[in-house]
Amino acid sequence: MRSDYDIAVIGGGLAGLSLLYHLERAGKLAGQRVLLVDAEGSKSAHDRTWSFWERGAGPFEELVYKRWQRVSLHNFEQHCTCDLRPYAYKVILSDAFYAHVNAVLDRVGGVTRVQGKASELQSASDRASFMLEGRRVTADRVFSSLPYPLDYRKVRQPYLDQHFRGWFVETEEDVFDPEQASLMDFRTPQKGETRFFYVLPFTMRRAMVEIAIFSNDHLTTAGYDELISEYIHTYWTRGAYRVYHTEGGNIPMTTYDYPRQRGCIHYIGLGGGAARPSTGYTFYGLQRQLTRIAADYPNLNSTQVWPEKHRMYDATLLRILEQHKLAGDEVFVNLFRNNPPARVLAFLNGESSLWEELRLMGTTPIGVFGRTFVAEALRG
Ligand SMILES: Cc1cc2nc3c(=O)[nH]c(=O)nc-3n(C[C@H](O)[C@H](O)[C@H](O)COP(=O)(O)OP(=O)(O)OC[C@H]3O[C@@H](n4cnc5c(N)ncnc54)[C@H](O)[C@@H]3O)c2cc1C
Repeated sequence: MRSDYDIAVIGGGLAGLSLLYHLERAGKLAGQRVLLVDAEGSKSAHDRTWSFWERGAGPFEELVYKRWQRVSLHNFEQHCTCDLRPYAYKVILSDAFYAHVNAVLDRVGGVTRVQGKASELQSASDRASFMLEGRRVTADRVFSSLPYPLDYRKVRQPYLDQHFRGWFVETEEDVFDPEQASLMDFRTPQKGETRFFYVLPFTMRRAMVEIAIFSNDHLTTAGYDELISEYIHTYWTRGAYRVYHTEGGNIPMTTYDYPRQRGCIHYIGLGGGAARPSTGYTFYGLQRQLTRIAADYPNLNSTQVWPEKHRMYDATLLRILEQHKLAGDEVFVNLFRNNPPARVLAFLNGESSLWEELRLMGTTPIGVFGRTFVAEALRG
């Protein structure tokens, strides 16, 4: 018996929408019966601000809200200003992304959207199925971006949450330099964790000021807010400003081996391990993975998000941070101070050569990194 759909995509957030967008652009949706399920329906809100860096134009270039070629890094002892070229640091607001991609998909015949919660995914040899609105739906392929909750206490691999909260502020005076973003500013008490701000200036008076913390102990909303307010007051302005938007969230940073595929079910997005374990950045790696999946479709040769060799690099860095072997602020500021920024960015995007990786490692405290690398390799 024929499946209900050729392709079912569960989750119409970043991963699900991007996958369908890339399939459409690759001409792979023609004649396909596609189901797109999301618990919230067709998303439209500014609920995420995606920043990432890339060389040249990316697949969503026309949606880039602002880009910077210069960034700074600070801790209490030192700072550096980096020219990122040939990379640019870019930001895309989710409302623009959802509007654009949803409009493209609405023009594709054969895409059915359902608002509802999918559950009980099962895979047979030639198809997969799941429960939706009280009935079992079948599809030849299911791409699921359902969350994959992990309990860090049960994960053998290194694990740190990256929890964050950001304020979009508008000041009454000119405060920001719209040509220079602050990538990592560690000038806040670290409290035995890795804590930093990042500031994305859109104009001289408008910016996103976000605090990110690598740790498994989360703060209350009031706790983040107090830190943000103090930071703005100390380093940016003592004048008046208003907060016109906020965002917050959590990204698990771990080398845990997320399931990628079960028969005809493919796991994508954060639930498929798309976040770069050592940074939490997801957007860029996800687009690279999904573009490749779309180009290969219906064959799915390589569905990996980050190159395999980077798993060990990330496990090493995460374990060092988790076990406080080195302070996070020193590791990150020194990486940028002691290397050409493009080398660090290529490495963090998983597109560096072995030669670049060796040179980069040569600038780190080699004893600590070497011993931790070997310990992680032996752990398997
Ligand atoms: C506020 C925020 C800011 C971020 N900023 C950055 C950034 O700057 N750079 C970066 O690289 N990454 C960033 N990330 C991380 C990552 O890019 C995002 O989390 C991204 O949205 C992950 O995509 P996803 O498709 O896996 O999840 P989502 O975009 O959350 O999509 C999952 C979808 O599944 C739906 N869903 C859930 N359960 C069900 C169900 N049972 N049935 C049907 N549908 C269901 C949800 O409604 C949702 O639409 C950020 C994350 C957050 C939360």
